[in-house]
Amino acid sequence: MFKLFLVLFNFLILLTLFCFSQAEAEERIQVKDIRYYELPQALRVVVEISAVTEFVKGELKNPDRLFLDIKNSILNKELKKEYQVNDPVVSKIRVGQFNFNTVRIVFDLKKSDYEFKIIQLEDPVRIVIDIYSHGNIRTPKKSEEKESKITLKRKIVIDPGHGGKDPGAIGPTGLKEKDVTLDIALKIRDILKNDPLFEVILTRDKDVFIPLNERTEIANKVEADLFISIHTNASPNSLARGIETYILNWTDDEEAIRVAARENAISVKRMKQLKDELGFMLASLEREAKRDSSVKLAGYVHNSIINSLKNSFLRNDNGVKQALFYVLVGAQMPSCLLEVSYISNPEEERLLSQDSYRMKIAQSIGEGIKNYFMKTDQIKKVKYTKHVSSTNRTNLNKTKKTNL
Ligand SMILES: [Zn+2]
Repeated sequence: MFKLFLVLFNFLILLTLFCFSQAEAEERIQVKDIRYYELPQALRVVVEISAVTEFVKGELKNPDRLFLDIKNSILNKELKKEYQVNDPVVSKIRVGQFNFNTVRIVFDLKKSDYEFKIIQLEDPVRIVIDIYSHGNIRTPKKSEEKESKITLKRKIVIDPGHGGKDPGAIGPTGLKEKDVTLDIALKIRDILKNDPLFEVILTRDKDVFIPLNERTEIANKVEADLFISIHTNASPNSLARGIETYILNWTDDEEAIRVAARENAISVKRMKQLKDELGFMLASLEREAKRDSSVKLAGYVHNSIINSLKNSFLRNDNGVKQALFYVLVGAQMPSCLLEVSYISNPEEERLLSQDSYRMKIAQSIGEGIKNYFMKTDQIKKVKYTKHVSSTNRTNLNKTKKTNL
């Protein structure tokens, strides 16, 4: 009897130990993968982790280093510990288990005159670090080069929202947002493809799933001149209707928070928590002055859609708003997100299912893009402005004729 008790007692101790170590292992999140992208304006490092966690950043001198401590984490043992990079600021990235529950990522720096931004994103959970030379984003030489290049051909990235396993919002009779957005994007590409001034790149041209962060990465890689993400809106209120256009920024507007939470596939509560985490990055976005261009872009495209629809398909003008959309975070060019009607509204779902309505929207987005470039060209007074404007006008006239 006593022997049996002893065996049982030992078993209980083992079980307790086992549970304890299991719990301990489970508490730590995993640093799953590290990738980096040598972008023209910055080094982007993406650290994939298994769950949202806290992190601490710091700078060290002699030699200059930037580090990131990921709290409560364990390093995937299969990961490389050192990455040599070809970048003007960073020479090497090193990764290690700093202590029991901290993974440290160190960036060995070539110079102390640099800037960086760090953001934690979800779906998949990851920390994104951008490191760039101080003032590199808007050096005059770089922009001069770009201006002379873009007067010849503008690269436009159109992002059809959702796709693959993510249908987006679904209308009362089953129309899927992912199908509507893809069709409109393909139509925009067809409309602009014959114009020698534009090159249209789609983030997807078929029914595939692409994580939100990869969508702007595509635009950054090709050095696009603008990025437009296309969506259809949805609301629990089936009477909600109309067109709205968004630029990236924080907002306290409950309705805009709800729209962004849905597009980001996170809760409204989590959206509100993000405010503090993203404050730093949003400030840096404003510093880069992309916001001004994004406001202009959103304005031209939005007005074009509203003007085009008002004659044949009168739709509510819900205006240009701002909210924190993951898909726009990290875009290194003017960007906006369009919610082209409510798929949750039975009447607007019916319109969105019609080829003529989608075509009208695609044409008006195309015209909005042309208007944006025409107006910004006039302001910049770059070489070939006259040529660009006249060609644009001819094409606009042509488009208008075919519309009538
Ligand atoms: Zn959407």
